[in-house]
Amino acid sequence: MNQYKLPDLPYDYGALEPHVSGKIMELHHDKHHAGYVNGANAALERLDEARTKEQFDRIPALERSLAFNLSGHILHSIFWRNLSPQGGGEPTGELKAALERDFGGFAAFRRQLNEVAGSIMGSGWAALVWEPLGARLLITQIYDHQSNLNQSGVPLLVLDAWEHAYYLQYQNRKAEFFGACWNVFNWPDVARRFEAARKLRLDAA
Ligand code: MN
Repeated sequence: MNQYKLPDLPYDYGALEPHVSGKIMELHHDKHHAGYVNGANAALERLDEARTKEQFDRIPALERSLAFNLSGHILHSIFWRNLSPQGGGEPTGELKAALERDFGGFAAFRRQLNEVAGSIMGSGWAALVWEPLGARLLITQIYDHQSNLNQSGVPLLVLDAWEHAYYLQYQNRKAEFFGACWNVFNWPDVARRFEAARKLRLDAA
């Protein structure tokens, strides 16, 4: 039962150079992301097996593994499409207006996202999410792939702050990597996700 599949990158490995090296993209996609896909499928298979064999004491560890690996798969799938060789610049239209309303403008939003990415202790992500209960944008600092989440937040733009995302090229200068990502952020992709997320409705209790 292979439920999840590694998606192809929507561009060549070297397409984001000089901002992100082709070697990083190749390893990051073919090894790291593939590992999360395999891990999610393995966790699902083992959950099936544990139910069938009535080994329910295995369930908690498998749920942790599923949360970690599936979240890793989902975040990387979004991240590749959040980047584009034709990226950079600033968002327009309703996304621009929402960033102004909820963060006080693009420049302040950018500083907050960079601060969130740069201050992660260990491994994690910075993410711009749409929070449908409050009908607003938020930034979340995600620990690993799955912790410290706002539960209803729909990720629109994610920034990988794991060392594997930058170390080969930027070593310890992670702020330079986060800065470089703004040259390749794919705002039309973020805007498309924003438009879809806003159709979600969560009724208040
Ligand atoms: Mn990663």
